[in-house]
Amino acid sequence: MHLESYIRNIPDFPKPGIVFKDITPLLADPNALLKTANELAKLCPNDIKIDKVVGIESRGFIIGGMLAERLQAGFIPVRKKGKLPYQVTSQSYGLEYGEDTLEIHTDAIKPGEHVLIHDDVLATGGTAAAVCTLVEELGGVVVQCNFIMELGFLKGANKLKVPIASLLNY
Ligand code: AMP
Repeated sequence: MHLESYIRNIPDFPKPGIVFKDITPLLADPNALLKTANELAKLCPNDIKIDKVVGIESRGFIIGGMLAERLQAGFIPVRKKGKLPYQVTSQSYGLEYGEDTLEIHTDAIKPGEHVLIHDDVLATGGTAAAVCTLVEELGGVVVQCNFIMELGFLKGANKLKVPIASLLNY
């Protein structure tokens, strides 16, 4: 089974010039969903006990939760500004136009915990880099950022100072 065939390209979404990688066909297929989680779990470091998996809102929550279960780790949501109910640490980062802010609960990670960050797509790397900063501000150690896919031509990996892994590269 080729996971690529479950990724749907949507040209000019959400704006002209962007080819959106829609993972909903992959999520909807039981075998593709299982294979994605299993294959990504195999790419996780196996010599370090992962304490927490951080999933990035919102598509990072699905496979992130499945990875947490497989790694016997806790799951931590990182959300857009204003969505988390308790005390938060915030990080703003640049987008193509303007700025966005991501937040994490201040008690989500204890100093020294080993953290794996998951999202569906690595594009320019700004989002994942901001999440690395949030985790590090709480004293966590990022052991890997992993993704279903990497848009390699955008060179997002260059923005990340931690090991990365992905199942598909475009
Ligand atoms: P970036 O910060 O540029 O690496 O963007 C990563 C975030 O934006 C991730 O949360 C992705 O879900 C989303 N994203 C960026 N580009 C795309 C794309 N072409 N298709 C789907 N999602 C994307």
